[in-house]
Amino acid sequence: MRGQDEPTLVIRGATVIDGTGAAARPGTSIVVRGDRIEWLGPDGSPNVPRSPDVAIDAAGAAVIPGLIDAHVHLSSDPGAEGWRQRTEGALGEWLRGGVTGVRDMAGDARAIRPLAEAVDAGEVEGPKIDFTAIVAGPGFFVDPRARASSAGIEPGEAPWARAVEPGSDIEAIVEAAAATGATGVKAYALVDPELLARIATAAHRRGLKVWSHATVFPTRPSEAVSSGVDVLSHAGYLVWEGSPPTLEYTERGNGNYMGVPPDDRAVGAALEAMAANGTMLDATVALMARIVGRGDNGQLRADWTYEIVRRAHEAGVDVVAGTDFPAAPGSPPSIHEELAVLVEKVGLTPLDAIEAATRNGARAIGIEGDYGTIEPGKVANLVILDADPLTDIRNTTRIRAVIKDGEVVDPAR
Ligand SMILES: [Zn+2]
Repeated sequence: MRGQDEPTLVIRGATVIDGTGAAARPGTSIVVRGDRIEWLGPDGSPNVPRSPDVAIDAAGAAVIPGLIDAHVHLSSDPGAEGWRQRTEGALGEWLRGGVTGVRDMAGDARAIRPLAEAVDAGEVEGPKIDFTAIVAGPGFFVDPRARASSAGIEPGEAPWARAVEPGSDIEAIVEAAAATGATGVKAYALVDPELLARIATAAHRRGLKVWSHATVFPTRPSEAVSSGVDVLSHAGYLVWEGSPPTLEYTERGNGNYMGVPPDDRAVGAALEAMAANGTMLDATVALMARIVGRGDNGQLRADWTYEIVRRAHEAGVDVVAGTDFPAAPGSPPSIHEELAVLVEKVGLTPLDAIEAATRNGARAIGIEGDYGTIEPGKVANLVILDADPLTDIRNTTRIRAVIKDGEVVDPAR
């Protein structure tokens, strides 16, 4: 579809933070043709068209890749009154808040697929949606969330929320999961390591990603890694590496944070295994910042989680920015809060945090060939900021303009 007759957009004078982890480049022009980045380099280069269709003066501004929230739930209960309208409203706010991609981590494929397709077709304004099909042991399907996302179908029988056990026809189940349009399969609970490995092999063969919680009960974090999971969610669950495995997945938040310190040898070995296997960590730290005041162990669990994410990053694990909660309507998308916690509590540099929400998010989804960084050939998803996010990560909320698929997003509704 690319050609010389496609519209050109040029951003001049920008300080570009490209999402690869490279240092910021001031005095940079970005040339976009159609929906792709064609070139970027020094202002004034002969490669910059003199009269593009759209010219943006970004002097004094920073440009980052469109943000990716790698952990959202859009369609947990699509049967609820006004769901589609409310969700479309949120998607528009997220996009204008700088989010150009999301990974939806469990919901009703009958609702999310048409929504994802409507976004792709330009009928709904919002981030590109990739979504998952979940698998779990039969014991999970009494969970009201599993029931709400497969209303009208016997719990555990929907192809996007499927019960699995050792005797299941895994090939057929993964085939059906792929047919829902999902990008990945997510193992949720009550899957043993051997079964998880069979699921991962079948999924990878079909080009699907494999995602799971950091423990899948009884599967420990390190066993999820060796079973072939690509991305582990919720860093706090890494505590289960140092505790006896349990079959009570509802106890997942009550790990032994007191008895298993972040420098526990088994947990450290699990982090090293993640780094060696290229397993990514969807940390969800802002969620922890929110539970601090809750229950007896809120503060302990939050501090443990921050420390384990810091150690994971230090060990060479790629951290992914995901939120798992929606912001209140009218406030910036919660990915900005995740970025702030990654810097202020965990101790990542702003550059690393931005990489977590851009390049690493795209890699977690498996779309890094087209998305996640500002490089020639990539889809032009860009956020222009009025202030430098490297001096204060909270400047990611100071959005001047968002560009998605090469087009400037209308700031008003
Ligand atoms: Zn979630």
